[in-house]
Amino acid sequence: MLDRLLILWHFAATRWLPSPGPRTRERRLRRFLTKVRRESPFYAGLKTEWPILTKSEFLDHFGELNRHRFSLEEATAVALRAERERDFRPELPGGVTVGLSSGTSGTRHVFLLGRSERCRWAGQMFARTLAPESLKQILNPFAPALRLSFFLRASSNLYTTLASRRVAFDYFDLTRPFADLMRELVASPPDVLIAPATVLVEIARARPSISPRQILSVAEVLDTRDRAVVEAAFGVPVAEIYQATEGFLGSSCRAGRIHLNEETLRIEPLWIDESHGRFHPVITDFSRTTQWFVRHRLNDVLRIDATPCPCGRKTTSLIAIEGRAEEVLWLPDGQGGLAAVFPDTVRQAIYSLAIPPERYRIEQHGLRWEVRMSGGDETGIGAALARLVDGLALTKPEIVFLPWTEQPAAEKQKRIRCLAKPE
Ligand SMILES: [Zn+2]
Repeated sequence: MLDRLLILWHFAATRWLPSPGPRTRERRLRRFLTKVRRESPFYAGLKTEWPILTKSEFLDHFGELNRHRFSLEEATAVALRAERERDFRPELPGGVTVGLSSGTSGTRHVFLLGRSERCRWAGQMFARTLAPESLKQILNPFAPALRLSFFLRASSNLYTTLASRRVAFDYFDLTRPFADLMRELVASPPDVLIAPATVLVEIARARPSISPRQILSVAEVLDTRDRAVVEAAFGVPVAEIYQATEGFLGSSCRAGRIHLNEETLRIEPLWIDESHGRFHPVITDFSRTTQWFVRHRLNDVLRIDATPCPCGRKTTSLIAIEGRAEEVLWLPDGQGGLAAVFPDTVRQAIYSLAIPPERYRIEQHGLRWEVRMSGGDETGIGAALARLVDGLALTKPEIVFLPWTEQPAAEKQKRIRCLAKPE
């Protein structure tokens, strides 16, 4: 009951109250930092500036960066057992939920959330994503419960926090055969369909007879063509949720832009390409109390939209989440250095072809780019990539075509990946 009220409060505050101004946010941030310094042994002796932490540094000091002092081994063991037994209910002592997010390079990231943080997450998630019609359905006691269908690699207590008498939660386990999942999906058609971008595309291709009112893309980069395929199949716009181990980072507004959740996050840009607005975010989440994220550097490449958003929200909005750092390809610039080829430009080059491939994957191994694809024509793609590299005035890589192979469905799908930079 208390949980429900808490969710409701966060829902109402996020949806209807004016968002806190810069002064209020600054005050909350300072209060948060004072508290962290007092409670975390990691920051206790801090004399100078707060250091920027990478993911691996954060994991190295896992035990000193959560208030219960759970060790990484302890937390990982609970999470792994849940994953193995496909039972995502177990918690650590004190009602702490453990989640596991599968990294792309085989690294696992563990996150901890207390009960009240779960409720905050659920309230904010509903507030930011539910369309007015979906909200009306929840509030109307004579209408059927709002049905949310999640396609994910692993469920979590976090997601089931969303379930109630008025909200039905169906979890579709991506480690099971896809055809079975499609049958079950048709048997209980969702009002809101939630899945990683590439899974949404597969669902669209399977053409199940469902007509969701809302579609949300999570966990992966949603590129323009994926979006078009899904929107054409179901006739509704796809909204994006930007979430990571570090929390609920942002979501699309009704104008279609992704806003960063600066109501509870401070985001410092670490510029990669300032003239085009590309940066890695360094985040401090001053709403988290179980785990402390202070100046946490993410590998994502975000692209800022400097113009005010027509929706009226003042928070920073993005042109795109372009990808993770490992999706950036690198080539010699002819002056002894390396220059970036951003994933977004690669996707554009491919999708601008007369016959784009149905599926493709590009892997960089030094000066060799391995391209796998189904559909499309090799000459066209080869020429498009060469043109792209030429336009950037970089050294051309050797482009090699290999037969298409599927990536396991339970893995995060990466279409563009740099496995090794050129020497
Ligand atoms: Zn907006």
